[in-house]
Amino acid sequence: MNLLSKKLWSYSLACLIGMASFWGGSSFAAQNVKISFDQYHGYNGTENYINKVAQTYPNITKLIEIGKSNMGRPIHVLVISNMNNGTTIDKYVKLTNKRKEGVNNVTPMESYQGKPGHWICGAVHGNEYTGTEVCLYIIDNLVSGYGSDNEITKLIDTKTFYICPMVNPDGVYNSIERGLSQRSNSEMKDNDGDGKINEDGPDDLNKDGSITQFRYKDPKGEYVIDDEDPRLMVRLGSDETSAKQKYSVIREDKDNDGDGKYSEDSESGIDLNRNFPEGWFQDNGMAGGSGDFPTSAPESRAVVEFLTNHRNVYMAQFYHTSGGFTYRPMGTAPHSQMHAKDVAVFDFILGKKYLEIIGEEVPEAWQKPDSLAKFKEELKKTSKNKYAIDRGYVLPHGWRVSYDEERDRRYSYGMAADWAYKQYGTYSLCIELWNPAKDIPNFPEIEGDETRLKTQRALLKYQDEKHGGIYFVPWKRYKHPEFGEGEIGGWKSQYSGGNAYPGEPLLKVCENHWQYELFRAGLLPEVEIKDTRTNVLYTTDNVSGATVTQKGDQITVKKGLSQGKYKIVEVTVNIENTGKLATHVAEGSQLAGLREDVVWLIGDHKKITFLQGDPFQKLGVLEGQMEIPAYKDMANSEQGQQRMQQRRPGYPEGSDRLEDENRQPQKGPKREIKWVIAVEGAAPLTVVVTSQKGGTKVKNLTIQ
Ligand SMILES: [Zn+2]
Repeated sequence: MNLLSKKLWSYSLACLIGMASFWGGSSFAAQNVKISFDQYHGYNGTENYINKVAQTYPNITKLIEIGKSNMGRPIHVLVISNMNNGTTIDKYVKLTNKRKEGVNNVTPMESYQGKPGHWICGAVHGNEYTGTEVCLYIIDNLVSGYGSDNEITKLIDTKTFYICPMVNPDGVYNSIERGLSQRSNSEMKDNDGDGKINEDGPDDLNKDGSITQFRYKDPKGEYVIDDEDPRLMVRLGSDETSAKQKYSVIREDKDNDGDGKYSEDSESGIDLNRNFPEGWFQDNGMAGGSGDFPTSAPESRAVVEFLTNHRNVYMAQFYHTSGGFTYRPMGTAPHSQMHAKDVAVFDFILGKKYLEIIGEEVPEAWQKPDSLAKFKEELKKTSKNKYAIDRGYVLPHGWRVSYDEERDRRYSYGMAADWAYKQYGTYSLCIELWNPAKDIPNFPEIEGDETRLKTQRALLKYQDEKHGGIYFVPWKRYKHPEFGEGEIGGWKSQYSGGNAYPGEPLLKVCENHWQYELFRAGLLPEVEIKDTRTNVLYTTDNVSGATVTQKGDQITVKKGLSQGKYKIVEVTVNIENTGKLATHVAEGSQLAGLREDVVWLIGDHKKITFLQGDPFQKLGVLEGQMEIPAYKDMANSEQGQQRMQQRRPGYPEGSDRLEDENRQPQKGPKREIKWVIAVEGAAPLTVVVTSQKGGTKVKNLTIQ
């Protein structure tokens, strides 16, 4: 089997979903660890795969356990980057903990932390394992493409991917391996206070490996059998009546502890996507709630700790599954709380590309950013959404915020993507991956009311035709210990429609989102040392006799003796961010945990004296090569002005923050830095430019 057919064999359905994208990807690459997407991998399959990849590709991958779930399952991040290149600042400048002087307690950095980083994770919600599959697909394309596809090879050489397929491994295990759909994490908790832990969860009464449903005849029941497809149960509206037989429908479950309640003490714990520190609040510990405090869950804590210790991440992705659209930040606040530049990057660059990839119409305003004023005027007449008017566009279906702009109130809280943007400084997204109407070929157009029912019918039909009907368990008589005669049946919970169906639909979702993350990786900043020059001005025996003054870029030297053992040297370094976006997200440049880009001139202390310029020079934030559409308009708008004047609590006025107007940092993607130094003999010099998110680069200098 040649390389191409190998790839096509594993993606046996590739031809059906458009070859073009495959030719553009890593089609010619060797797939040394086989993977296909004709079934879900679940917890065990995912663990097997990422372990095999790490063993097979030691030069470009590293598997890290970033924490353990409550049930003791590892939370794994697969790092993908060339492990044999790259460097970090601590190899040149010793990092110490200022509060514990003399103690060498700063963890050494890995070389891949010196490259711009891209975080991608799935299954924050355990029953949204499409995200896990997309992570595996991305891993496969990256490792298989290395060495054969130029774009992928360059990305792995110069960037770092952190891929965490299962943030919530317990949720994935229960959802797939046990057939018990579980959104939250698992907790060892006595929810009903009877002294026993997790003793009354749902039950696989008929032992078929999936928690389905139990229906029984009940005059007070709220369900009737669907006329069109008698396998489906239809819920009657509150004022709806029917002459048909009524049923009650419950989850497959019994009362294990005899307290008259069902699933009141299951393994299911808290909603991890409400347990992150941004906008978190206590929702009284309700089941599926936000937890006792931000990052109280080991899973969300592992993610926050890992990212906090890996500051190079610039792009972040938190996959979910329901709907086929993106939530960009924020959920807890309107866009007036975001930096105007970030709003422009999110919508005009990231949003536009996303809509193009999923095949949705791009708002006219995004295509004509120069006409925003006109769009604002038009919106004033038609919209009551003040945020839409302020921007000049209503956010489209496919690219939205969970903040309720119409009612001006927050919808959600403690969300991972909000935290990763607002407190950590990334262009983070929460993509809801799956929309059957778009991702299943020839899915009937669903209109009018009863969309849920119509979708269910279409899904049933699809799985009948493509999968022999095995996703739905036919109703079968069962005598329930508490409810008596009835039937067990319904969707197998793994395939109940919340996730992309294996095969063609899943491959389409995977391919679209691989292409999208490739696009995002292509926007990462990249700091480079473009040019270095050394110019010996004169030599002297007495350094203290050498004086230098600098005004702008003019350096004046008062000569010492014309001969001597010290060379007085002017060093010029040109630095540029050759990446498309700035070295910090605009919001990130204000965060206490982030620092501006810096350049060091390093040499032997005993042989080098700095006459002009400190060894360490601040560069501010280097802008990227890409012009940000509409940014100026955004910044000048009412909301934008409001935002610019705000400071986050805790930042003292006039402090050395990057947005301090008085400092007037240099603008643009380029910097020219000069030093004048006295060098004894032929002491070697090293220039190290280091940007937390734009990478670390080094160049050795020789003085002629
Ligand atoms: Zn979700």
